[in-house]
Amino acid sequence: MKSHQVVEYGKPLAATESPTPEPKGAEVLVRVAACGVCHSDVHLWEGHFDLGGGNRLDVTRGRALPFTFGHEIVGEVVSAGPEATGVSAGDRRVVYPWIGCGHCAVCESGEEHLCPASQALGVGRAGGYADHVLVPHARYLFDAGDVPIALAGTYACSGVTAFSALQKVRRRAHGRHLLVIGAGGVGMAGLVIAREIVDAEIWVADIDPDKREAARVAGADHVVDSSDADARKAVMAGTAGGVAAAVDFVGAESSSAFGWNTLARGGKLVIVGLFGGTFQAPLPLFPIKAVTVQGSYVGSPAEMTELMALVRAGRIPPIPVEARPMAELTRTLEDLREGRIVGRVAVQP
Ligand SMILES: [Zn+2]
Ligand SMILES: [Zn+2]
Repeated sequence: MKSHQVVEYGKPLAATESPTPEPKGAEVLVRVAACGVCHSDVHLWEGHFDLGGGNRLDVTRGRALPFTFGHEIVGEVVSAGPEATGVSAGDRRVVYPWIGCGHCAVCESGEEHLCPASQALGVGRAGGYADHVLVPHARYLFDAGDVPIALAGTYACSGVTAFSALQKVRRRAHGRHLLVIGAGGVGMAGLVIAREIVDAEIWVADIDPDKREAARVAGADHVVDSSDADARKAVMAGTAGGVAAAVDFVGAESSSAFGWNTLARGGKLVIVGLFGGTFQAPLPLFPIKAVTVQGSYVGSPAEMTELMALVRAGRIPPIPVEARPMAELTRTLEDLREGRIVGRVAVQP
């Protein structure tokens, strides 16, 4: 099989050849049709996340190079081990990558994506930047119906991440205002999913006019340039005192501050993006405004199940996806890092 691997952190990826694995036990071998390129791949490729104040979170530990990243995988089942059930060769499936150990208390509670011994595809074990990927169990495979191939894989990360974050605000925002911060790949997924599952007036904030326009076309009720000095005032006036909930799909100091500053009393800010920096807020305002600040990381298998049912029912409008050859991965990671991509890029072997 051919893989596009990181051989040195931050350096161009290399095409490598290795024997195609044979599925054993309950494993399933999938031929990759497309793999979405996620912003977190940029950080994984660089080897760190920015924690602000000059501090970095090292994400190279426990991983030997060369390594195959890529966690928004869709493909076709090729073969399965003798213990695998419910799959047949030729099935087209999206792969849920947030795989845990399967037997700790966290996994047993249904939060496999938060397992302390996570073995996520494309993070802890070989992922989808290759022509084949080995999936440990058929329960991680999801039918995407007749969704276009380049789009289908994006549900495994940007889709389920947005869905899970919105689950945390849907009740709070009901009948009120929801602010979506950042209209990149995950933010756009958040916007289209919010229109389906959250009954609220939706505001979208982005600093990029092209992304604001994309959000407007995708159904945002209001768009606002969060770098504009009057943006906060516009949101406060347009929402009669602030939004009930904000989801920060950027996760930068400026974006989280914008979300915090536009919250109504009793509001909730959910931080999803991993851009980097430090969140600061005056402590007395937590009780005085009775606000909640919560983090959200990808999504659970149950949330993936729920999301994919909506996808198959045609209830989630597509986000813009551009297909590129897998050989253009390095350029794509650079484009993502520089904010040059609207929607999502999916690479194909
Ligand atoms: Zn991702
Ligand atoms: Zn576990």
